[in-house]
Amino acid sequence: MSNQLILALSKGRILEETLPLLADAGITPADDFGKSRKLLFDTNLPDVKLVVIRAVDVPTYVQLGAADLGVAGKDVLLEHGAEGLYEPLDLGISRCRLMTAGIVDAQPARAKRRVATKFVNVARRYYAEQGIQAEVIKLYGAMELAPLMNLADEIVDIVDTGNTLRANGMEPRELIENISTRLVVNKASMTMKHERLKPLIERLRHAVSVRT
Ligand code: ATP
Ligand code: MG
Repeated sequence: MSNQLILALSKGRILEETLPLLADAGITPADDFGKSRKLLFDTNLPDVKLVVIRAVDVPTYVQLGAADLGVAGKDVLLEHGAEGLYEPLDLGISRCRLMTAGIVDAQPARAKRRVATKFVNVARRYYAEQGIQAEVIKLYGAMELAPLMNLADEIVDIVDTGNTLRANGMEPRELIENISTRLVVNKASMTMKHERLKPLIERLRHAVSVRT
């Protein structure tokens, strides 16, 4: 097992963009990939295995060494924190923005702004840096609903086209961070398995660089 490299992939939209990049780097999942309910897959490389997990779980797997490497959105990494992780490579996929947003033309109703988000750590840090008093409320989805229902004055969420916001009478306000998908590596693995990890990271780096 210790000679194995486990690569944790974020399922969902990131996965769709990750697989072509892995293919460019010479890593292809075994035939049964995605066909069953399996979550752990062999690849064409005898010592590399893939796990496909929720995007928010990838930093945890890599930080604790259950996976040696991972593919995760910068949004998820900012929220989770960087302890125990190296972030050697920007994969340049699934680009979007972390932004504040609110109802079009609405003024903050409360002295202490209420902010609904699944990125509570990012939001607390951001409003503190801005010197804005904020009460941050954790939600797990449908953030756009919170201001409409007067649960919050503002949200912090991923914005791509802004269509979902506009469809709900909302507008993007302040940019918090430009987001893309990153390769992360467990710090201990980077030392212990450096000889095997280095060429893999370099193949990915090359695959990214020929795209841009
Ligand atoms: P779910 O939507 O099922 O609750 P999730 O939000 O964790 O799960 P995705 O919506 O697939 O999963 O998002 C995963 C990652 O993709 C995000 O962490 C972010 O980095 C990126 N992402 C999310 N929305 C967009 C978008 N509209 N455009 C580009 N990248 C995005
Ligand atoms: Mg989502």
